[in-house]
Amino acid sequence: MATTAPPPESAAPPFAASREGLRVSDDFLGALHQSIQRQTPDAAERLLCEIGRRWGAADMQVFIARAPQLLGGPPGSVHIGVLLQTWWGPRTAGGWGAASFDFSRAAQRLLVVELRNSAEARAAAANPQRELRSQHVCRLYTGYFSGGLSGLAKRDLAGVELQCHAAGADACQFLVSTSANVQQARQWRDAGESAMAIVRKLTEPQEAAR
Ligand SMILES: [Zn+2]
Repeated sequence: MATTAPPPESAAPPFAASREGLRVSDDFLGALHQSIQRQTPDAAERLLCEIGRRWGAADMQVFIARAPQLLGGPPGSVHIGVLLQTWWGPRTAGGWGAASFDFSRAAQRLLVVELRNSAEARAAAANPQRELRSQHVCRLYTGYFSGGLSGLAKRDLAGVELQCHAAGADACQFLVSTSANVQQARQWRDAGESAMAIVRKLTEPQEAAR
């Protein structure tokens, strides 16, 4: 069970949602994936990422506006890790899992997000179609993280899921970076490279090539 973002103040919700958002089951997420996949097989991944991206960007905008109230100062006055944990906190409470943000490679413009208890991976695990279980399925999250961090950094960042619990990994792991890095990471991932190897190769390209 996971809770979506509450509707914006100005929007009239087309459903009887509470201010805390709309509660949806893992089955709903599974059905959302399947119906988009059936309708537009070639664009399904892009569509789900875009939904997540807009959600994450909107959430970040609201969060930055409320930051002085939540953090006791402007966003720049606290450590970026604290800032992002505070931003993500309501999503954990809403059933979207626990995320941790690794900024140790910020100089190389690489941010790695680890997520435990992904709602999309849970939905895939419950899916009787086995082929859906062996993929990287967390597309809403990929979009959410890249959209939110783009809003914070005020520049376009891309995202890719490097490993997924639905495909047997302990936790899901995402890379948020420039589109060139993300494109390269995706190629390596699809060629069977591990998340650890991909991040190492992007961090130390000359060393990894030896
Ligand atoms: Zn995943």
